[in-house]
Formats: sequence, C-alpha cells, structure tokens
Amino acid sequence: MSRKELLKQQREQMIEEDGIIFLDNVSKAYSTGAPALDNITLHINRGEFVFIVGDSGSGKSTLIKLLLRELTATSGSVYVMGSNLARLKHRQIPKFRRNLGVVFQDFRLLKDRNVYENVAFAQRIVETPAGEIRRNVPAILATVGLAGKYKSKTSRLSGGEQQRVALARALINNPSILLADEPTGNLDPKNSWEIMKLLEEINEQGTTVLVVTHNREIVNAMQKRVITMKKGVIVSDEEEGGYIDEEY
Ligand code: ADP
Ligand code: MG
Repeated sequence: MSRKELLKQQREQMIEEDGIIFLDNVSKAYSTGAPALDNITLHINRGEFVFIVGDSGSGKSTLIKLLLRELTATSGSVYVMGSNLARLKHRQIPKFRRNLGVVFQDFRLLKDRNVYENVAFAQRIVETPAGEIRRNVPAILATVGLAGKYKSKTSRLSGGEQQRVALARALINNPSILLADEPTGNLDPKNSWEIMKLLEEINEQGTTVLVVTHNREIVNAMQKRVITMKKGVIVSDEEEGGYIDEEY
C-alpha cells in the first residue's frame, strides 16, 4: 500500500471512530470580549441530524464558521471529514468546501440572476461539465419544490422560494455535510416547516445536517439531537431533545 493510500485509510478510520465532525477542546477568541467558544468538545457522526440552539451571542455562528474554515480555532483542533482544518493549506480549501453545503438566514443569492443561474453557478465553479449541469439543476430544483421557476429572478421570489433556491445551490454538488445557520429566521411558520422538512429529507438520504435555529416549536416537534449553547459552552446535548431555555 502506498503512503497516500495508507493516509486515506487512516483518515477514513478516524472518521468512523471520531465522527464526521470532531471538535477537540476548541476555543475561539475574537480580538475583543470574552471567548466566543470556550473549550468545546463535540462529536457528530456521519448521517446525524443535529439542532444547535442557544441565545443570541452564545457562539453558534462561530461554531459554523469554524466548520467551514472561515475562521480557525484559537486553541484545540477541528476535524471535518477527517481533515484537521488547522493543517489545511489555502489551496486545499476550495476542494474541502465542495463537500459542505451551507445555507444562511439571509439567503445570499445572486439577485440579478435567475433561479437556474444561481444553482448552475455552484456547479460551474467546481468545473462540472455543461451537460451534467443541464441535467442536475432541474433535478435539484424539483427536489426543493421549484420545478417551473427556473427563469424567475431571485429578487422576485418570496422568502420561502429564495431559501429553496439557496438550498438547491447548497445541495447541487452533493455535499457530505449541510450546515444551516438560522435557515428559517426570515420565514413565516408555514415556509419554516417546509424548509425543515426538506432538511430532514436530505438527511434521510445520507447527508449529515446541522441546523442552528431559534424555532422552538419545530425543535420540540422534530425530536432530533439538540445541542444547547450558552456563553460559548455546550450546556446540554440530548438525543431526541427539546428546546431548553429556562433551566440554564
Ligand atoms: P450566535 O451565532 O450564537 O448569536 P456568534 O457566534 O455570532 O453567536 O457570537 C458569539 C460571540 O462572539 C458574541 O459575543 C459576539 O459578539 C462575538 N463575535 C462574533 N463575531 C465577532 C467578530 N467578528 N468580532 C468580535 N466579536 C465577535
Ligand atoms: Mg448566529
């Protein structure tokens, strides 16, 4: 076995043992204020669906940014899909991010482009052949319930529709992990439920899903793993948990 194959095997073994996401004693301090994350240790296994809840300022978005390698930890180690993110070279980051889909509260779409273009763009940047893009985009748009909306400018769509476009764009490259930071923060209850149900379906097809949310009703109803953060620490981590705020 070559050294490269051996390393690959070791990495895969590590993912099995420590999970697709593993934070080992991670802290993150910005230049001002108290640490945003304070000695977090966290394992997430391949295929899990996890809610992350907690007050504003508790460190949820910082955690997501560390997983995306938008930020690096001040101390401790972050492993995603077997890579120690502190060791990732700048030129390796685009390839690493290909395996991550991300959705934000504010959609972050190209406003002057149509729905098709917004999704196709994510495939062009990873150099997917044109023929494949033409097959993939309609399929993913159908999955998120947007068949027939290809030509609409995204600025003309409702919030719920815009978040579906963002979700289609996040999923088009078939990521191993989907990270969603308050994906329903700007949506009404009906659209919030529809987006969460889509996230659940995506998870059932094998993608590991992490969702930061304040939506107490949905968290309580869906009975997933719930990690509660407060002031940069994990104060509870429960299988089939609920939304906790009074006890801590
Ligand atoms: P949450 O997503 O749970 O609301 P954040 O991770 O955004 O929390 O923020 C955690 C803490 O870190 C907060 O106290 C926030 O003010 C601080 N913080 C976040 N981003 C920055 C930044 N770029 N510079 C300085 N402090 C920051
Ligand atoms: Mg946040």
